[in-house]
Amino acid sequence: MSAAQHIRVSGIVQGVGFRPFVWRLAHDLHLAGWVRNDSRGVEITAEGPQAQLYALIERLQREAPPRARVDAVTAHPVAPEGLDGFRIVESTSTRCATAIGADTAVCTDCLGELFDPLERRWRHAFITCTHCGPRYTIAHGLPYDRSRTSMSGFALCAECSREYADPSDRRFHAEPIACPHCGPKLRLLDAAGLEITGDPVAATLERLRGGAIVAIKGLGGYHLACDARNATAVAALRARKDREAKPLAIMAANAASLAGLAVLDADVERLLNSAERPIVLAPKCSGADRELDGIAPGLASLGVMLPTTPIQWLLFHEDAGRPAGLAWLTEAQPLVLVMTSANPGGEPLVTGDAEAIERLTGIADAYLQHDRSIVVRCDDSVVIARGGAAPAFVRRARGYTPQAIRLAASGPPVLAVGALLKNTVCVTRADEAFVSQHIGDLDNAASLRFFEESVQHLLTILEVEPQVIAHDLHPDFHSTSFAATLGAARAIPTIGVQHHHAHVAAVLAEHRHREPVIGVALDGIGLGTDGGAWGGELLVVDGARMRRAGHLATLPLPGGDRAAREPWRMAGAALYQLGRGAEIATRFPRQRAAGQLAELIERGVRCPPTSSLGRLFDAAAALLGVAEVSRFEAEAAMRLESLAHGARGEIAAGAWRIDADGTLDLLPLLGLLADSRAEPSAAAALFHATLAAALGAWIAGAAARTGISTVVLSGGCLLNGILRERLEAALRLAGLRALCPINLPPNDGAISVGQAWVALCAGEV
Ligand code: ZN
Ligand code: ZN
Ligand code: FE
Repeated sequence: MSAAQHIRVSGIVQGVGFRPFVWRLAHDLHLAGWVRNDSRGVEITAEGPQAQLYALIERLQREAPPRARVDAVTAHPVAPEGLDGFRIVESTSTRCATAIGADTAVCTDCLGELFDPLERRWRHAFITCTHCGPRYTIAHGLPYDRSRTSMSGFALCAECSREYADPSDRRFHAEPIACPHCGPKLRLLDAAGLEITGDPVAATLERLRGGAIVAIKGLGGYHLACDARNATAVAALRARKDREAKPLAIMAANAASLAGLAVLDADVERLLNSAERPIVLAPKCSGADRELDGIAPGLASLGVMLPTTPIQWLLFHEDAGRPAGLAWLTEAQPLVLVMTSANPGGEPLVTGDAEAIERLTGIADAYLQHDRSIVVRCDDSVVIARGGAAPAFVRRARGYTPQAIRLAASGPPVLAVGALLKNTVCVTRADEAFVSQHIGDLDNAASLRFFEESVQHLLTILEVEPQVIAHDLHPDFHSTSFAATLGAARAIPTIGVQHHHAHVAAVLAEHRHREPVIGVALDGIGLGTDGGAWGGELLVVDGARMRRAGHLATLPLPGGDRAAREPWRMAGAALYQLGRGAEIATRFPRQRAAGQLAELIERGVRCPPTSSLGRLFDAAAALLGVAEVSRFEAEAAMRLESLAHGARGEIAAGAWRIDADGTLDLLPLLGLLADSRAEPSAAAALFHATLAAALGAWIAGAAARTGISTVVLSGGCLLNGILRERLEAALRLAGLRALCPINLPPNDGAISVGQAWVALCAGEV
């Protein structure tokens, strides 16, 4: 007795081999019918015995392919039409509302072919299959079909067509497949942009071994690569890129090759080998600085990653002498490459081939590129390994974008435009929040263009019309004026969300937590509702409502934004507050403005008060002589943390005051540091331990006053592992539950999600 079911599957089900999977299931179960991609996911009509149909519905969930995420399977009976056989039919090109997959590293099956001289894709730089390879960065729109990717110009050869059409093949309906005959071609260009003859991989490796800097086209943009063990090459890269001290990420063939460089535990190895392939910040081995001179000076951790693309794999394969098979992948390989984003001057990553030669002139000695274009720019993701605990995101981009964050409530589409630094944008659709890849600091024209493109791209691929636009309170941010202009043009409301409210709300959003919380923002600077420079905040947050229940005692911010780049100014501010302004000039004789600082603070010239914890870190670092200036964002704080690693950390009891109005004053602690005669590492550890104890006591006091026992921890300072660990322990001890960022960074990269969540909650009130 034949029956029929019409089935819909939603989730990440396009571009992950879902239709071939359905086809195989249907054949296995002897069902007739068809499957296709549609606007909401995958649509199936199946005919056959009722029991087999039920088996199909059940197995759709249970056996879904590795890269798929099935959110829902719904089925309803329809009249059988007497169909013959089971077919994959063309996508309907109606309104699209499903997700594109993220870019993933080359899978093991493909690696097996890549290194097998008998395979037709031996050393093919564009090898991919249903389970791996580029997705988000090559897709113009949905549904996800080859015609809407940057592979559309490469017609499949007969052999590839056969694989594409063969349901039993791993490449059945894999959209970006190609082979050496029909696919994109690698080429190596010299500094002048002229093609270098010979094997591009071999020629690139030869140059890298010779100390050259080569721009290499990756998935979401170009990298600049050089031999990480060649200090001269590393110094040249720093000088040419005008990147004095900011740490550089390195790439090795496998975890074994990182022995002696980075401390790897099982969690780090799992992260390194994950399909997402982020840069993992792992503790540095003691001898690492000798072997990798100039890579991450003064820091306790090292950014490491393993190859993601076939091109990267081929360089290591070449260096190993083109071994056949996979055995070499488990053996330590000597080659270690610097792999840093090609983004001169803090501008967005270079993605275009002509653009690369134009913008990287004077930086790159050669260009390894190809003719598959990058449609969507996407930086490498960066995570911090946290020894057994969930890793923390520093930057969420390649490999993770555009995976959605599932929200606790549904509402009209919101566009949230983020803040100024580490900008991301976020668009909600029903109960999902889609956060863009890391866009960068909106302080240059190129980043502003990337920002506007990202808004447009997200709205296009999600096909939503925003009903509300959420933005930061700061009137001078480009994101804020963009929101106002777009809101006026579309005649839709805009909502300003306080910066630290957004930090806390981002954590609430990803935890799907809807009860009131004590929201703690340990941050740089964000504009407060009173116009002040907030950044060490204790808020009571209930969805769209926020009340400031406490903050750090303020320090003057001498010179405004300049103070963030010159931590000695914050040390000066602390000395002034301690009544020791006369010491400023003698402590910082190299700083020309030191002589006048006390007077400027006295007269209140460009010295707004700030409650920022980030600036307090700066003050501590400069008082201890760790860093007078920060050559990259948060350098002083990072060096201070690195110094504290491994030291025990005494708590200086009584080095803080908590006032009745909820103000936490850490000035006594800064005074202790100013007079410290201890080893810098012991003093740095004491600072961390005391700060965490003070924050813990402060938060516990607020919990007792309000009767709220759930605490959200947020803000950029939470990337400080020592602070975070100690603070979490203190809260546990106080019987409080702490919610921390997991799938989003604690820094401003998550602001857009928080803004969107506040806007959704505001709509419900
Ligand atoms: Zn594969
Ligand atoms: Zn082919
Ligand atoms: Fe912030």
